This record gives sequence, structure tokens and C-alpha cells, in this order.
Amino acid sequence: MSLTGECFCGAIKYEIEGNLIDPMSCHCSRCRKAFSSQSSNYARVQPGDFRWLAGEDLLTSYVGKHGFGLLFCGTCGSTLCGTFDDTVHGVSLGCLNEKPELDDIHHIFVDSKASWEVMPTGVTAFSEGRRDDDRR
Ligand SMILES: [Zn+2]
Ligand SMILES: [Zn+2]
Repeated sequence: MSLTGECFCGAIKYEIEGNLIDPMSCHCSRCRKAFSSQSSNYARVQPGDFRWLAGEDLLTSYVGKHGFGLLFCGTCGSTLCGTFDDTVHGVSLGCLNEKPELDDIHHIFVDSKASWEVMPTGVTAFSEGRRDDDRR
């Protein structure tokens, strides 16, 4: 399976060969700010499965604590990828063009969700991290 993704202005494009891993939506206050949204929507990629197709020179990065970072379009600001030690670690699901085949998305830190967010019913949700004894 091959997937493509791009930023809002379309200048930066990428391709993924292979499956997305561990699709996750984190509702913590840090992810809300990092993804400018009610939650992150993110999945990992195998390191060799990801490649840039266009606009790599337009990327802007922010590296936070512990070597984890984010890559943005320097023109339109879309958050495209997460990085670890300067390697693409995963992608934000919102920038994908196609409909990905995903395992069940795990919603984590839902007890920290924004006051204005209404959680959908029937999703796999955890109060904090992804531990079975924490399942809601
Ligand atoms: Zn852009
Ligand atoms: Zn989070």
C-alpha cells in the first residue's frame, strides 16, 4: 500500500510505502497545542517507508525535549511529521491524501481533553496512557 500526504498549501508532499503503525489520538494539553487541534492524530511509520516527494527545503522544525520534534510547512504551517533524533518517526493523519487502512485508533489522555470537546462514543479510549487497566 502506498499513501501520499501534503501540507495545506500543497508545496510539501511525501509518500509512505507500507503500513501506518499505532494510530493514536492524544487529548493532552501539550498535544492540543502542538497540533493546534482538540487532539493529535498521529501514526508511526517504519523508518525506511517514508520519503519526501516535494518541498523538503520548505520544512521548518521544532525539536522539544528528549529528541522528539515536529516538522511544519514554513509557508502554510501544517504539521506534517513527528521526528525522533532528526529522523521521520510518524505523520499527522490530517495531512494524508488517501483513506488510510488503520488499526483501531487509540484515544489517550481523554481525562485531560479540552472542556469544549465532545468525545465520540464507541472509540477505544484511555484515561491517561495506553495501559489496559486505564481503559475507559
Ligand atoms: Zn504548505
Ligand atoms: Zn499528548
